[in-house]
Amino acid sequence: MAEAAAQLEEYFVTEDCIACDACCNDFPDIFVMNAEHTRAIAKEKSPIGKFNPWDIVTVCPVDAIKLVNLPMPAKPEGEKKVEAAPAETDNSDWERRWAAVRDRLEPQWERMKRYGMASSVDEEKDRYVVRFDMPAKVPNHRLKFKWGLPDDMPEYKASVEIHGGNVKIRAKLEDEKVKKLCGWVNSFPEGFLRELNFPVPIKSHRLNYDPETRILEVVLEKAQPEQQAA
Ligand code: SF4
Repeated sequence: MAEAAAQLEEYFVTEDCIACDACCNDFPDIFVMNAEHTRAIAKEKSPIGKFNPWDIVTVCPVDAIKLVNLPMPAKPEGEKKVEAAPAETDNSDWERRWAAVRDRLEPQWERMKRYGMASSVDEEKDRYVVRFDMPAKVPNHRLKFKWGLPDDMPEYKASVEIHGGNVKIRAKLEDEKVKKLCGWVNSFPEGFLRELNFPVPIKSHRLNYDPETRILEVVLEKAQPEQQAA
């Protein structure tokens, strides 16, 4: 029995886990998220040789996965994971800046913005006006500071698709560096899609974005009765 146990690698997830899901997605036989979705758990041991332990520990962006019952093998040549491009400016004090904000809770409203849910729809005589409060801040995360990413969220690119009274409004983050954070931060998709259904057909749209207020306004012109009949 002791010999069989020695053939298994045992992993442990430390309290540094930020619940990004990466280990659960890549190694579902070993890791599972806890019920509160706050931390991954190493639920199973892994047979020696099934994976390279370096592939397992380096999947974690915050070094929270440890192999606990065996020494790590020699590090393979080359790095498996390519992180974001290094910061262009002096970023030497990133750990201090991260430590200063790491316990701050993000407002729920800011999260809702990233899903296009911080929005309103107003009806006027000839049109509908959909307003989105767009994301203002790049969410705080260790890698945001390590990679030297900005605090202000770059602008999203918006587009509109109209099929009669059905309107799809998309907004997509285009900044390649900030987008790299999406895979690591909870509740940070690369963009959103809102689908709205109006009782009358829409004939055209206009997009207005105010960078000061970060309000994206989508003006949807109603088709006139003769156009509706056509
Ligand atoms: S990869 Fe790391 S941070 Fe992400 S869930 Fe697993 S242990 Fe937590």
